[in-house]
Amino acid sequence: MRKRLAIIDREKCHPMECGNYLCAKLCPVNRAGADCIFPGDDPGKKARIDEFLCTGCGICPNRCPFGAIQIINLPDTLNKDPVHRYGENLFELYSLPSPIFGQVTGILGKNGIGKSTALKVMGNIIKPNLGRWNNPPEFKEVIAYFKGTETQRFMEKLHQNEISLSYKPQQVDLIPKQFSGTVRELLAKTDVRNQLLAIAEQLHLTPVLDNDISKISGGELQRTAIAAAVLKDANLFLFDEPTSYLDIRQRISVSLFIRSLASPEKAILAIEHDLIILDYMTDLVNIMYGQEGAFGVVSGVKSAREGINAFLEGYLKEENVRFRDRPLKFDKTQDARKILPRALISWDHLQKNLGNFNLQTERGTLYKNEIVGILGENGIGKTSFIKILAGLIPPDSGSVDAQIKVSYKPQYLETNSDLLVSEFLQTAIDRYPHQLIQPLDIERLFSQKLGELSGGQLQRVAIAHCLSQDAQLFLLDEPSAYLDVEQRLIVSKVIKTIAQERDATILVVDHDLLFMDYISDRLIVFSGTPAQNGLLRGPFPLEEGMNTFLQHLGITLRRDPASHRPRINNPGSVKDREQREAGKWYGE
Ligand code: ADP
Ligand code: MG
Ligand code: MG
Repeated sequence: MRKRLAIIDREKCHPMECGNYLCAKLCPVNRAGADCIFPGDDPGKKARIDEFLCTGCGICPNRCPFGAIQIINLPDTLNKDPVHRYGENLFELYSLPSPIFGQVTGILGKNGIGKSTALKVMGNIIKPNLGRWNNPPEFKEVIAYFKGTETQRFMEKLHQNEISLSYKPQQVDLIPKQFSGTVRELLAKTDVRNQLLAIAEQLHLTPVLDNDISKISGGELQRTAIAAAVLKDANLFLFDEPTSYLDIRQRISVSLFIRSLASPEKAILAIEHDLIILDYMTDLVNIMYGQEGAFGVVSGVKSAREGINAFLEGYLKEENVRFRDRPLKFDKTQDARKILPRALISWDHLQKNLGNFNLQTERGTLYKNEIVGILGENGIGKTSFIKILAGLIPPDSGSVDAQIKVSYKPQYLETNSDLLVSEFLQTAIDRYPHQLIQPLDIERLFSQKLGELSGGQLQRVAIAHCLSQDAQLFLLDEPSAYLDVEQRLIVSKVIKTIAQERDATILVVDHDLLFMDYISDRLIVFSGTPAQNGLLRGPFPLEEGMNTFLQHLGITLRRDPASHRPRINNPGSVKDREQREAGKWYGE
């Protein structure tokens, strides 16, 4: 049996640029005359490692100048064939989630751990090869592999076409590249039960039905993809990250919508990184752990509350597996900072008309060394307000009392730039190696081009770039997008460090309420109607701001007694009613 996995990131391996297979030259097994490391048969002849010959000496992963090699000792419990392997020296998946009729089951885990892979296997998009990528097994064998488990029954039904599937892919931004036409035309393709108008109404798509797919916003595209999936007549619905690009109100309404699909004949699986939303949307949770980019294991199913707590804890009791050294704590009491009211900039009754949109503010002041969260729906004027503060657009009336330099990380990060990460981040590397580069784990991206980065990598690079610029006010627009839960916590800490060390003011726009609750010293709250008018109030003290915002949304939050994380109360529950009556939308 294999004792270890050898994983090669083929995009990072450049066998001619390291001096002709440096890894093979250094490998003791190769030096002794065997072929442990050898050129692959792909066009780029990227390195391959024979997992049976590899002794795990650790030389090649340390010496590869591009960090392309991982050698991993497999835990004893994984002394078996994987469910699926993408190819030689590529990622392996070891188990599958367990959908249950009548329930919504969530999948929670870090980026690159195999969540999407597992969902694609469940969705029959990937045929499991039991690790034999070069000689895939018959389906009989796959069923035998799962003998005696729920998954066996599932696979049998899948094979006999007794399960009809509907799948919402992770990358909705690819949809306009594969389909041209209007939202209505796209939805018509899956509208087997004549429900297009009803579903469009529920997902607030009615006003954009006749818009071209290539012209709608990210949030509209996401809801279109969800609508297309739901119109299909299926009994297993698979949603890969259904709330990215959505604001909080939309996340809540999509969660309720997904919940409403569950019935005795229908099961739902959903991957989600927003913990408050995952908790609200799902009944049960499967946790995925392992080594990112190398292998992934799916835990047994747990209740949503216990599963999320176990994930934060880093320990699975039933499996007796510790998958993280320390718990993730979104706990403010641990790093409470004292903010002195030293004004950076103040504004007074600003007003601005932009086309049909009208923005108004009350009076407000930002302090130095504070982090102010901005809560508000998409299209409510957040970006326009910042532009006025930065002096990029003048207000029609009202005043701003200082001229300041602003550094801005935009919400959408598309780039096809050939610039290297190390060139783009020169200032951050020179000035903030310990504050930005190291915690955001960017060093291993140095030799990559901006245009080659994944969403999560580009996000971390963009955050580092923004926070290293010469400015007094920093604005991060949706820094949590594309990041997993651990990365969101790291980004929070990085933002806190920079505010402190640079005596800077940092504004954060984001829709992950757990992240916002953890990071914000104070809150600015927008109300109004998207695309028509926005009213900015605050900054408020955190609790007052949260209360105002939650009341506006019509939901109440309480804290979980074990983990202290905020949870949404079920509408109409005892707690919900008590908190509403007491005016404590943001409860203890
Ligand atoms: P997650 O959804 O948890 O972020 P994924 O399932 O997308 O994780 O990916 C898990 C690992 O599998 C990653 O290392 C990814 O690069 C790799 N991977 C995904 N798709 C393929 C593919 N078609 N061929 C080879 N490797 C892949
Ligand atoms: Mg994924
Ligand atoms: Mg925006």
